[in-house]
Amino acid sequence: MNAIRAQRAFHETPTAAAYEPVQFVSTCPACKQQRVQRCSRNALMRLLHHGHAVEAYCAACDECWRISARERAHLAAEHFAN
Ligand SMILES: [Zn+2]
Repeated sequence: MNAIRAQRAFHETPTAAAYEPVQFVSTCPACKQQRVQRCSRNALMRLLHHGHAVEAYCAACDECWRISARERAHLAAEHFAN
């Protein structure tokens, strides 16, 4: 096992639930439609925990954006509330 793999194994939760995709909706700033986003629970938890931007994508507009503070709070409350 090389150093990078060892580091990843250390940081990632070894449960299947951590890798299950979480679905959430975010409104595309271009077409104003709600677009369903999918991201692994593990990755989302890390972004929220570290205060990093959560990005969303609209396939129709080929547009990427950062979800709003409100969407972010909703996402955290719905999926990561203790
Ligand atoms: Zn769009």
